[in-house]
Amino acid sequence: MKIHEYQAKELLRHYGVTTPRGHPCFSVDEAVAAGAELGGKVWVVKAQIHAGGRGKGGGVKLARSPGELREHASRILGMQLVTHQTGPEGQKVRRLLIEEGADIRKELYVGMVVDRGSQRVVLMASSEGGMDIEEVAAHTPEKIHKVAIDPAAGLRDQEAADVARRIGIPDVSVQQAVALLHALYKAFMETDASLVEINPLILTGEGKVIALDAKMNFDDNALFRHPDIVALRDLDEEDPAEIEASRHGLSYISLDGNIGCLVNGAGLAMATMDIIKLYGGSPANFLDVGGGATTEKVTEAFKLMLANVNLRAILVNIFGGIMKCDVIATGVVEAARQVRLTVPLVVRLEGTNVDLGKKILADSGLPIISANNMADAAQKVVAAAGGKH
Ligand code: ADP
Ligand code: MG
Repeated sequence: MKIHEYQAKELLRHYGVTTPRGHPCFSVDEAVAAGAELGGKVWVVKAQIHAGGRGKGGGVKLARSPGELREHASRILGMQLVTHQTGPEGQKVRRLLIEEGADIRKELYVGMVVDRGSQRVVLMASSEGGMDIEEVAAHTPEKIHKVAIDPAAGLRDQEAADVARRIGIPDVSVQQAVALLHALYKAFMETDASLVEINPLILTGEGKVIALDAKMNFDDNALFRHPDIVALRDLDEEDPAEIEASRHGLSYISLDGNIGCLVNGAGLAMATMDIIKLYGGSPANFLDVGGGATTEKVTEAFKLMLANVNLRAILVNIFGGIMKCDVIATGVVEAARQVRLTVPLVVRLEGTNVDLGKKILADSGLPIISANNMADAAQKVVAAAGGKH
């Protein structure tokens, strides 16, 4: 689960991370009032969407007067903000953060992620903050410093101080940076975060170390023990199809291809997407119906996939292990009738009672294309969707 920058900053402030003062706003008048309340001469108007790259996309603007603040707030609020993370359609801005302007001497980067390779939380830091860290990682990886944190000992003072020095924090400010890194790590662990990213972390003219941006993601499997974090969820930022899917216990991720995939088991779902790609097609979604491919679940899954205007064909790929193929075939036929399928449907069944399952599909009178194995199914569905993508 993701949260907005202003929410991440509020959460991190509780742990002792220094951030600029600021207020979230939902209207232009509120934004102007927030500027007045903050005082000072320079403010920053920041679009709040669950995507990075807002600065480059025109969603972060400096205002040097209340009039400018009003202008920027009017332009940004309600805009369809396009960044490299939103996709070409962009994301509508419904919230703003009005913040005091910071005196930036240097923009740095710090982040923490769960690293599966080392099975630890890894602290990453760089002197090259404020721009795409992916670019730095790709072209000058030596500029990213990493520490795999020992879960028993936690982040050591020495490790934190080393990292701070390596990214160019001057000696007088190292203690501040160490305190900030400790606070970040504590917040990361206590909230069951999967990612925290401060880009940029800045050094001010006075030598203060401040988090100027903040991004946090949380492990969905641990949300049950963080109702306060669940309360920060903003459904406007999530894909409506994915929200609908989670209501029906389906694991669904929208993709940009044209072949709908309905599969049981995440591993088989991944393999199905791979083989579609191998034969030149492009999946419209990842969909795992889980262990029980019941008529209800299959019906909901069909509805979700059919709501996608790009959809040209559907591939149902089910391995009947615990569930028997005849039961699944009955469910698929029933669901296809209910939703009045408008695109070609390819079905590949394997497992217990597979012959009976295939007979049910053949006898249904529906134009179902039956496939014998994964390669056959992928080739048939790619052809049914109009050939290579
Ligand atoms: P994003 O990463 O989505 O582009 P950021 O919050 O990192 O958004 O803002 C982009 C840039 O805007 C920062 O790198 C920084 O230069 C500037 N900026 C952001 N917040 C402030 C602030 N409070 N004061 C001064 N400059 C800011
Ligand atoms: Mg940023």
